[in-house]
Amino acid sequence: MRTEERLALLEHDLPGAAGRGEIIALFQPQFSLETGEVVGAEALSRWIHPRFGLIAPGEFIPMAERLGLVGGIGDVMLRLGCHAARDWQNHGHPIEVAVNVSILQLRTTAIVDTVAGLLDDFSLQPRLLTLEVTETTPVSDVPEAIGTVHALRGLGVNISIDDFGAAYASREQVIALQATELKVDQSLVQETQGEHAEDLAQAVAFGKEHGMRLVAEGIETEAQLARVRALHCDRGQGYLLSRPTTKADVDSLLVGAGGFRAGS
Ligand code: C2E
Ligand code: MG
Ligand code: MG
Repeated sequence: MRTEERLALLEHDLPGAAGRGEIIALFQPQFSLETGEVVGAEALSRWIHPRFGLIAPGEFIPMAERLGLVGGIGDVMLRLGCHAARDWQNHGHPIEVAVNVSILQLRTTAIVDTVAGLLDDFSLQPRLLTLEVTETTPVSDVPEAIGTVHALRGLGVNISIDDFGAAYASREQVIALQATELKVDQSLVQETQGEHAEDLAQAVAFGKEHGMRLVAEGIETEAQLARVRALHCDRGQGYLLSRPTTKADVDSLLVGAGGFRAGS
């Protein structure tokens, strides 16, 4: 099938995908770089298309943003994330769940009511939810996002700046958003030599200076792990530690660490 044909079919099918239950969440564990324990998991969306099978978010999230569908898909992901967090919380493993939020979802304050409602429905401690703001558009183009993020902070949830060092987010914008976490992009984590090798240390220093928690993503090698540890990043995520996987697999990881039995 030609690329354009496939794209046209996907665009045709995407509006109903969330309602048909085709949007699912995989979870990628996040580890404390101090203790090695699983302390969180990032919910990463996948679209299970009836004909094409598994479709990566890199393909359908930009499409959803273009078609004005990212809010509906985002709400599904928030619900799946909160559901998993509640399950882990109820089984004695109160690990945090991080859910990606497109900056376009922050144009209005509707998401504040959605998140408040979910925390309430699932009796979830707000500190167990992190919203990772992924900047596909600069904050300066979406000035309303700052007020929405502040209102979300008011609920007690954590706000993370995703892909720091690679996306649009400037230091001024990070400060204006009053984010609680800086998630350093994998390009900085993986650049161990060359002219940009210092960018990682600078990003970490900036985050620490502003009291933010530091997460290093895209850790693929032991050398990268040693480096982010030496820089005192708080948390790590990456293929070396664990790939994105099913919730059941994360349950097993937690059982291994301390007698947790899966299920809700
Ligand atoms: P992200 O939030 O920065 O997520 C990290 C991406 O890096 C994930 O790709 C993950 O599978 C991949 N990754 C993790 N560890 C490694 C590693 O060691 N090496 C390499 N090379 N890659 C690694 P994925 O799942 O394909 O997601 C891509 C992007 O799509 C995400 O980047 C995020 O920006 C976006 N996305 C995913 N789910 C959602 C969602 O529910 N809503 C929104 N708005 N965006 C989402
Ligand atoms: Mg993310
Ligand atoms: Mg990222």
